[in-house]
Amino acid sequence: MLLLEVRSRKPLAEINAEWNSKNVPFWQVHSAATDSSKVPSTDLRQAILGVDLEKAPGTYPLLVHLQTAGGKPASCTLQIPIRAGKFATERLQVGKEFVEPSPEQIQRANEERDKLRAIFDQVTPEKFWDGDFRVPLDGVTTGGNFGKRRVLNGQPGSPHSGVDFPALTGTPVHAAQSGRVALAQELFFSGNTVVVDHGLGIYTFYGHLSEINVKSGDVLQSGQVLGKVGATGRVTGPHLHWGLTVERARVNPLQLVKVLGGMEKPPIQSETAKPKESSQNETKPETKALR
Ligand SMILES: [Zn+2]
Repeated sequence: MLLLEVRSRKPLAEINAEWNSKNVPFWQVHSAATDSSKVPSTDLRQAILGVDLEKAPGTYPLLVHLQTAGGKPASCTLQIPIRAGKFATERLQVGKEFVEPSPEQIQRANEERDKLRAIFDQVTPEKFWDGDFRVPLDGVTTGGNFGKRRVLNGQPGSPHSGVDFPALTGTPVHAAQSGRVALAQELFFSGNTVVVDHGLGIYTFYGHLSEINVKSGDVLQSGQVLGKVGATGRVTGPHLHWGLTVERARVNPLQLVKVLGGMEKPPIQSETAKPKESSQNETKPETKALR
């Protein structure tokens, strides 16, 4: 994931960027003409660039176009290097029924995958969140398994697209930020699942819940309880599976917590886009992961 920042001393009339043939939506952090300190005022815009877990390593162009109020259009291209991520592989022997679902189950799982993709494809132009994203469980700062590949009975599965937080059944699960519930239902692989649309193509995913406390369309405040930790779907024990997609790229959600935490740095330059933090690739909405 990358945080893009564009700072301009003049107010920006327009800004957009293109990555992966997709438009990257920017939001305004603060506008030009603010305080009277020595620091020149700037129009500060940010955007999140999602790099999918399975994006092939290479160098990819990011095109940024902008125009200041009354100024000429300007553009620049940034070359963004994507390195291969190092993710663990785990080999497991499990009961056949775990790796060989019935045709009905496969059909159900495929329909659910398509439904999730259709949701993640929608970029809501409103930005529902404000401030930092939080880890959904109280008192928890880290979780594991992101990107881990599982080889079940010799058959490689999809990489694990989220972070797992082992926790007791019934532990409250909080919305990572404000947003609107895009999905709240039981799914084949992820059990009781909630998806929250935070706007601008950013979605968080909460799986294996023992109970769901919200419904589709609900508007959530940051930190609001949306369900409880459980062991529904294909799991080996109670835990929260937390996922993040940014314009359909499967990204480690802990990176979003880190990248948007403690922002607000003094302005240093204008009309330049600068990659802040580079990182790696991501998954599909779960297909074969056990947790
Ligand atoms: Zn998981």
